[in-house]
Amino acid sequence: MPAPTADSPALATHAGSAVPGSGKPPFESWGRYPKHDARLVQLHWQSDFPGIIAGTHGGVLPVGLGRSYGDVCLLNGGTLLQTTGMNRLLDFEPRTGVLTAEAGVSLAQILDFAVPRGFFLPVTPGTKYVTLGGAIANDIHGKNHEAAGSFGNHVPCFELVRSDGTRMLCSPRDNPEWFAATIGGMGLTGLITWAQLRLKPIVSRAIDYEGIQFHGIDEFLELKQRYKDVEYTVSWIDCVSTGKNFARGIFMLGEHSRVPGELKPSPPAKLVFPFEAPGFALNRASVSAFNTVYFHKQRKAHVKAIQDYEPFFYPLDAVLRWNRMYGRNGLAQFQYAIPWEGAREGTIAILREIANSGLASFLAVLKAFGDTPSLGMMSFPQPGIMFALDFPMKPGITLPLLERLGDMTLDYGGRLYPAKDAAMTPHQFQSFYPNWQRFARFRDPSITSSFWERVTDTTGARPTR
Ligand SMILES: Cc1cc2nc3c(=O)[nH]c(=O)nc-3n(C[C@H](O)[C@H](O)[C@H](O)COP(=O)(O)OP(=O)(O)OC[C@H]3O[C@@H](n4cnc5c(N)ncnc54)[C@H](O)[C@@H]3O)c2cc1C
Repeated sequence: MPAPTADSPALATHAGSAVPGSGKPPFESWGRYPKHDARLVQLHWQSDFPGIIAGTHGGVLPVGLGRSYGDVCLLNGGTLLQTTGMNRLLDFEPRTGVLTAEAGVSLAQILDFAVPRGFFLPVTPGTKYVTLGGAIANDIHGKNHEAAGSFGNHVPCFELVRSDGTRMLCSPRDNPEWFAATIGGMGLTGLITWAQLRLKPIVSRAIDYEGIQFHGIDEFLELKQRYKDVEYTVSWIDCVSTGKNFARGIFMLGEHSRVPGELKPSPPAKLVFPFEAPGFALNRASVSAFNTVYFHKQRKAHVKAIQDYEPFFYPLDAVLRWNRMYGRNGLAQFQYAIPWEGAREGTIAILREIANSGLASFLAVLKAFGDTPSLGMMSFPQPGIMFALDFPMKPGITLPLLERLGDMTLDYGGRLYPAKDAAMTPHQFQSFYPNWQRFARFRDPSITSSFWERVTDTTGARPTR
């Protein structure tokens, strides 16, 4: 296993495209809620850390591109160490597909490098503007969880640097407990300086796509069963409609084309959401109208097409900074994974609660998680149904709804995703993640986050409404 030293500029290769929307203070999470003040320091070399910590107070937190929705990448009154300047590709082994890169490289940069060479990410989230370190620290999942597990399952090793200067090579064999604590460890165990990622071969940018309309959770479950061998599956679901349209949606399937085709890099995104939308722009009527159009946009009940990977994996990346659509108050995401035993009933009950609240947006996703165990001690995925939905942040309304939905998730044996959360109570977090005290022993004493302070708070304090 190589132990790259990217402190040597001679070894370093700058990865392809620049990453839009990064690094300009004030640093916000994607949901733009909560808004917490912190000092922002850019890391450029692995050696910058831990020297930088000496002059700070209020704790530090490594961050990537701030694509987490809530406060897992925020630190009120502390110092955020942004890693996007540590973005060098260090080594690539075409025989095995193993790429070694600094942790601040983005998945977009990896794709620019890998696709022309006939390789693709083993797991990708719904945006390519996340860093390698951020992907490991939240042990992210993609549309192929049933086939491939989560991101950490494809990371052979990484280096972890602690604030006291200790450097550790972590893998399932070397320092295995630190490996498990850091995958999904929310940045709290130390700075990931570089990591290896096992890429997978492709022969074309094209995806063989199918879209199938469904009506209700039982039809969704039937489709999931029928297409269980297809690599990528995900569903858009209408969370506003009640009555006969309750839980209608589109089940989307995809596989990398096996017909050799184009392998060029993607052009840069051009559209930027131009302004901060007024708070009233997203309301029940506008979302309901959008959902009806979206559902019927697919005119036939079942369509097949060949699609480029960009719109298949990253439809939202076409418009940069689309989070401004939610106005100044921002948005909150609610995302659960409920095990199969309670998955059907829990999903129906939660969808009804959401429909009755009248608060849903059109960005709602339903999918199944598979059986591959995550390697992280605090990883979110577990076998069952995963559901994610954006809510506009409305003072006095959204947070109480999220707390109710969190309690319902707990009742059905599920858990919420820290990367998407701004509202979990300490009781909810500690019940969702019973390992948390064992995990806390691996936390670096100089590192903390607004999320961690909130969910381990025993004073009974609640997020501000
Ligand atoms: C449109 C959109 C779609 C998304 N879709 C998905 C999805 O399908 N699946 C999914 O799982 N997630 C999804 N996400 C969430 C996103 O993938 C995660 O929040 C990801 O971790 C963000 O990475 P980042 O580089 O922006 O890190 P940040 O958000 O800046 O930080 C995330 C965490 O990583 C830690 N961290 C960052 N770099 C390091 C480092 N070098 N060393 C140690 N810790 C570090 C931070 O401390 C923090 O805890 C989506 C987000 C958006 C905006």
